[in-house]
Parts: sequence; C-alpha cells; structure tokens
Amino acid sequence: MSSLVVASLLKMKPLIIANWKCNPTTLQGAKKLFDLVKNGLRGIKNAEVIICPPFTFLSNLKIQDLAFKLGAQNCFYEEKGAFTGEISPPMLKSLGCQYVILGHSERRRYFSESDETINKKLKVAIKAKLKPIFCIGESQEGRKRNKTQTVLKRQIEKGLKGIKEKEIKNIILAYEPVWAVGTGKACLPNEAKIVSLFLRKIITRNYSSAISKKLPILYGGSVNSENAKDYIFKAGMSGLLIGGASLNAKEFVKIVKEVI
Ligand code: PEP
Repeated sequence: MSSLVVASLLKMKPLIIANWKCNPTTLQGAKKLFDLVKNGLRGIKNAEVIICPPFTFLSNLKIQDLAFKLGAQNCFYEEKGAFTGEISPPMLKSLGCQYVILGHSERRRYFSESDETINKKLKVAIKAKLKPIFCIGESQEGRKRNKTQTVLKRQIEKGLKGIKEKEIKNIILAYEPVWAVGTGKACLPNEAKIVSLFLRKIITRNYSSAISKKLPILYGGSVNSENAKDYIFKAGMSGLLIGGASLNAKEFVKIVKEVI
C-alpha cells in the first residue's frame, strides 16, 4: 500500500459495526444490551460505532446524543408496494437508520440472495440515502480451490454493476470470509491485508484510484478483543464488522477500546 493510502486511512476513525443478527429474542434483552454498550462507550470519540439490531428493535433504541449510529441488517429492493413481509430503505431511514448491511454471507446462504439481488438492494438503499455495508467473502471451498480473488472480483463487479462513481462514496466494503464468520477461525491479519489491497485494485480498475483510496474496507469474521487491533494497526483495515462478540457488551466495548 502506498504511504498516501496508509496516511489517509490512518486519519479515519475506525468504523466498528455490531451485527446482532437474530438476537436477542426480547425487547427487554435488546434494551439491556444496548444500555450496557452505551454506558461502556460513554465519552469515546475516536471510533465510529454502528449498532445493527433486528428490525423490530430499531425504533426502541434511542440514539439521540449518543456517539453511535443505527444500522439495519437487510432491506428490500423496492421502496414500497405489494411485497408482503418486506422492509424498504425509506422505512429504515424514517426510523433514524443511517446504515444497512447488505450481501451478508448468511443472507446469501440461507435466503439464496444472488449478486443480482444484492445489486438491486444496494441501488435502492443508496437512493434512500442509507450507507450500505456491502459484504463479500469466499467460502471454505473457494479458498481451498484458490478461488478467493475470482469470487471477490465477481461479487464486487456484479454487486456494484451500474452504480456510479458519485454513488460509490456512500458504500462501505466488508471483507468477511465465509469460513471465518461465526466459526472462531479468524483470517490472519496479513491475509486480510492482501485481500484489501486486491479489493482496492479492483475498485481502481472499475472506478478510479481516488475512489479506491477513500473506500472504507472492513474486516469481519470471528473478531474478538484479542485479535481486533491487529486488523486495524497491522492490516490497515478501516474497521471491523462484529457478529458474535457484539452480543457480549463487555467484550464489544473492549474491542472498541483496543482499536482507538
Ligand atoms: C458477522 O456476522 O458479520 C460476523 C462477522 O460474525 P462473527 O463475528 O460472529 O464471526
């Protein structure tokens, strides 16, 4: 990475995103977790923290005057209409959401989301002025067959198809190797660094080097308070996407403190 890229990335506050997935099961549990995180992070200004709870808790978690922001874990690719059970980007925006996770490997795997579906979701989210956290990552099988770069290139190029240069600045990329998500087997920081350099190369080729340098690239996959700082300080990632460890307020707060 050029010293210019390092300098510009180092100036950014690390983005730490909590993906609560389908947890906790009650509003009471969600409020308790939220309050513990809020109290633990009081006064912390050197990180951008985004909490992504399930849809149903979004309007109950009061974020006014707090150092962190709210995100959703998914959205639909239409703004409104006869689509029973779906939640649209303008609905999320109206609840105070500023971010939305899209393309998560669990959505790709359990809900058969394709690159094309994710592309439609990214476009409608950007139109609603939500910032998408666009997840990409290779499977264990892809990694074994040495297909990591091929898979990531395809996911990026299909996912971002038709998204213009001026819109891309709203996107945050999250490299989440599928084999590392929820498994306890985190990717080595050096491997994550090699991947992030490759991702910047793809973005430079498809957009420009100015866009590529500014694009935040996060790492996600079995991050904990022991390994968190290596992704930021050794691998030069712009932040972290945290699943399991974000459900333990003490551990999540510790992770944030490790990277500031
Ligand atoms: C995730 O769900 O995005 C994730 C990275 O999960 P975990 O931290 O549990 O691996």
